[in-house]
Amino acid sequence: MNIVLLGIQGSGKGTLVQDLSNKLDFTLISVGALLRDEIATGSKLGKIIKSKTDKGELVDLSIVMDTINKKLSTNKKSIVIFDGFPRSSEQADELDKICNVDLAIYLNLKKEDALKRIMNRLTCSKCGNITTRVKCPDLICPVCKGNLTVRSDDTPEVVNKRFEQYELLTYPLIERYRKRGVLVEIDASKTPDEVLKAVMKVIK
Ligand code: AMP
Repeated sequence: MNIVLLGIQGSGKGTLVQDLSNKLDFTLISVGALLRDEIATGSKLGKIIKSKTDKGELVDLSIVMDTINKKLSTNKKSIVIFDGFPRSSEQADELDKICNVDLAIYLNLKKEDALKRIMNRLTCSKCGNITTRVKCPDLICPVCKGNLTVRSDDTPEVVNKRFEQYELLTYPLIERYRKRGVLVEIDASKTPDEVLKAVMKVIK
């Protein structure tokens, strides 16, 4: 089963996959996280990727597809969840070439609420756990005790650019998958537990 997660930045895709991993066994293709891993290696490729992510621009399609194919070639379970991919109709065409999308889960959240969540978001620099300033004011990761930091692309200017890209390139994909009859819309303003429950109902 191939599942695509759609939703504006801050709609809770990362939190959802984190919570789903306690309930289901799946291969996660979280493109943003895979790209950040490459940046962290300090490689030449990582520097090219960083020059895009720092500006809130999409990374080149060939780099994104290589990253995805590399992950799928080493680890492909019967459920694959794509988080943050596809982000454009060009990417959705590429995805259609490598697999059949069985389910597209759209986490629907207003832009203003997404912005508030992003401004409260903290990510562990060691294990990637996503949490909030409200839950962890001491900036210590509750999972691994690593340092919680603000993602370098979670600044107001970069977030605005990422929202622009989302509205222009990613939002139209909702209609694409709706027309195909595979779209399920979830109210992402609910708590993470409620969102998880709603998603589990459609996956099972
Ligand atoms: P995310 O973690 O999904 O918010 O992604 C962070 C950044 O990684 C984005 O702003 C893009 O620069 C890059 N990125 C993530 N997913 C993709 C993708 N599917 N295509 C191109 N760039 C991506």
